[in-house]
Order: sequence, then structure tokens, then C-alpha cells
Amino acid sequence: MRYISTRGQAPKQSFLQILLGGLAPDGGLYLPETYPQFSAMELAFMRDMDYRQLAFAVLSRLADDIEPDDLKALIDQTYTTETYCHGRKDSDFSQITPVRELEEGLFILELSNGPTLAFKDMAMQLLGNLFEYALDQAGQDINILGATSGDTGSAAEYAMRGKHNVRVFMLSPEHGMTRFQQAQMYSLQDANIFNIAVRGVFDDCQDIVKSVSNDLDFKAKYRIGAVNSINWARVAAQVIYYFKAYFAATTGNEQKVSFSVPSGNFGNVCAGHIARMMGLPVHKLIVATNENDVLDEFFRSGVYRPRTAAQTLHTSSPSMDISKASNFERFIADLTGRDAAQVGELWQAVDAGGSFDLKPSGLFAQIQAYAIESGSSSHADRMRTIRMAWEKYGVMIDTHTADGLKVGLEHREAGIPLVCLETALPAKFEDSIREALGVQPERPAGLENLETLPHRVETMNADMTAIQAYIAGHAND
Ligand SMILES: *Cc1c(COP(=O)(O)O)cnc(C)c1O
Repeated sequence: MRYISTRGQAPKQSFLQILLGGLAPDGGLYLPETYPQFSAMELAFMRDMDYRQLAFAVLSRLADDIEPDDLKALIDQTYTTETYCHGRKDSDFSQITPVRELEEGLFILELSNGPTLAFKDMAMQLLGNLFEYALDQAGQDINILGATSGDTGSAAEYAMRGKHNVRVFMLSPEHGMTRFQQAQMYSLQDANIFNIAVRGVFDDCQDIVKSVSNDLDFKAKYRIGAVNSINWARVAAQVIYYFKAYFAATTGNEQKVSFSVPSGNFGNVCAGHIARMMGLPVHKLIVATNENDVLDEFFRSGVYRPRTAAQTLHTSSPSMDISKASNFERFIADLTGRDAAQVGELWQAVDAGGSFDLKPSGLFAQIQAYAIESGSSSHADRMRTIRMAWEKYGVMIDTHTADGLKVGLEHREAGIPLVCLETALPAKFEDSIREALGVQPERPAGLENLETLPHRVETMNADMTAIQAYIAGHAND
């Protein structure tokens, strides 16, 4: 399996070769040269597999430069019941991603039972183990620099904590995360985790990460890396649970299933698209956004019009507050039939702050073949949906999952099972749950006193030079 860039100007690479990098050198994103295919017979065989077996079936096709025994060991180390046990007490954690039936044909796919109570743990935990493995092989170490407004940073820290060849420098806005999210990150006492609270907003954090990454001398000298959502291994890891959920929601492979996916950067739903390209019988993929409806606008109109940071609204499903969808280019590459020149042209406009419209070229008409639908929701929709799920099904869901359930139900078809992906647990967004239901969400065991734990965090000005000096001072700890 070789990986090529969506923009076609970068050398072909193997899975391990692209693992530690971000963008391809030509500015594009990596994709498999061709998608591996599961035959009907293979799918029949996969139906009885548990999560780890499915993970091996999928990843051994996508990461074929990892020795099978090593890959098995990495998967066994990653997908354990001990890691994914932080959900509701009545969940079957042995399934790793349990599927909960709300009513006949309507399911919630529980992806948020990992250590940080959001679905990003599903991929990030694997990434942590893959990084450690690849760095060991190469005799190297890495300093990961990131900016977070909540879920990504904590998932990265919990995945990398204690790894001997990885250090994490995570910038977060001093104010702006929930108390729970702050406590989750800042209470980590691991020596290889460095929390930096920046006196500023998330965009200040992100600007600093960008400038540091553009300082090529510094980047090389201190071996600076990233774990952002364009990382191919993260997308690959997310493919697995679409297979798991499909088999859980059906009784035979002649059936098709629709998935509703709360979306921001288009990483999660991109994995669903790839699962379908690999042969999974998917009926529809439903892209759910909040008021930041860049993706909904595209799937309705053919116009992709990223917003500026200043135009991005702060909503009650904050992990979906994005201005541009960083994984979207992967889907467009497939839509163009892997026409790298066309993708390059489209993103030339986007990278210059503009937009594109796929209607005039006729490309938008071809999107029907991919059966992707979309919708958006408002704060009032989320509140209503959280109350509906609680009253009708007795299940408490968070605001992001509510976006997915609301939009999913609008696109539900009779006779087609609908699986709504749960991307975070309600405990992570207590204020919204109190607003919707007037009660405090249950905390997973062990997290009751999270906010009282001592913090390990450095508060700094939004000053790139000072932050570089801090990294330089700790990069070899
Ligand atoms: C990251 C995140 C999303 C959006 O996922 P994408 O892969 O960026 O589309 C949705 N919900 C929650 C809770 C998240 O943390």
C-alpha cells in the first residue's frame, strides 16, 4: 500500500513514512493510492469478529509495512476494556464501541467511553502507541506541539502520557475551556506532558503553533511534530468502528445502514466514506453540523466557503466550531476521480482565503453517487433533542451527539437502520445538560473529584519567543 498526496506533487510513501508527518510536502493530504477492498466473503467472515480482530482486518490492509505480529500487539495494547470503560454503567464495554438501540432501527454508537470521554480517544490512543513504536524503531524522539480548545488536546495528552520518546507541549486558552476540560488536562502529572495556558484566545494559541512550525530551524532542532486531525493514521483508526457498528446494527450483509456524524473537520465522516469505499454496505452518510454550517452549505449547494476565525460562532457544541474542514480535501480528491491538478486549483482558492463552487463544472452532480446528506442545528434544537432522548429513550446525550441525532432523524428512511455516532459524553458538557434537563450528568467512576486535583500548568503570554524558549528548555527532559 502506497500513499499519495491529494495534490499529486509528493513522492509516494508507506504508512510508517507518513505516520509522524502532517501535510504532504506539496501541501496536500495523504490518501491510499487505491482503497483496499473487502469482498463479500471477507465481509461475511468479519461479521463475527470482535473489535481487535476487526481492527487488525482493517489496519493490516492500510498499514501493511508494520509486521503483522507487531500490529496485533499494538492493537491489543490499544483497544482494551480498561481503556474504554468510562461510559454509562449499563454499557457492554467488552464491545469497545458498544451500540445502543434506542428503538427499532435507531442506534447510538458509543465512541466516547475512552479516558477523555470523547470519540477522539478512539484514534488518538492508537496513535500514541504507533508513535512510540515507530520512534523506537528509528531510535528517535519527538516533541509534539499543539493548540486545543478542549477535546483534541486532552485526547492527545492521555494518549501520549508516559511515553518515553514523546513530549507534548499543549497550548490552551487560559479561559474558554470548561472547568472539566481544564481539570482533565491540567491535572496530568506526567513528566512528559507540558500544559501551557496562554493569556489569549484559541486563535492566539493556534497562531503560535503555526509560527513555530514555520520556523524550520527551530522545528528541525527540537524535532517538533503534531497530532492534528489531518493525520492519516487517525482517519484510518476511525474506519474500524464503522465496520463494528454495521455488524452490530444488522443481521446480514445484504442490509445497508445509514450513519449520522456530528462533524467539524470532516475527519470522522471521512472515515465513514473510506469504510464505504472499502466495501462496507453504507446507505447514506449524514453530515451534521451546528450553526457553523460550512459543510452543510456545501452538501446543499456545491459551494465550499470556509469562514475566518472571526466569523466562527461559539456554540454549545464547541468541538464542532470550525471555520474550515481540514479533512474535506480528501473527499474532494475522490470526487474529482483523484484529479490532483483540479484539487490543487480548488485549494489554491481556499488557501488564499476564497471559496469554490462545484456546480458550474458539473462535479457537484456527481456527488449523488456518494449519497452524503447534511443538515445543521441550533442551540434550541440541541436542547430539544437532549430532552427528547432523555424522555423518550431514557438516555442522556451530549450537545454534539444531539446535533447528530437531530439531523439524522430528519434524514431517516423507513427500513434502513440509522446509527448516530456519540462523539462525547454528557459529563463533559455539564452546563448544557443542566440547561436542557435541570440535572447534573453522571460522572464516570474515578472522575468525581477531578476539579479538586492539583494542576500542573504554566501560564504564559501569547508570545512566540517566550514559548519557544520554554520548549527549548524542556525539549530534552
Ligand atoms: C472533534 C469532535 C467532533 C468533530 O469531528 P470531526 O472529525 O472534526 O468532524 C464532533 N464532536 C466532538 C465531541 C468532537 O470532539
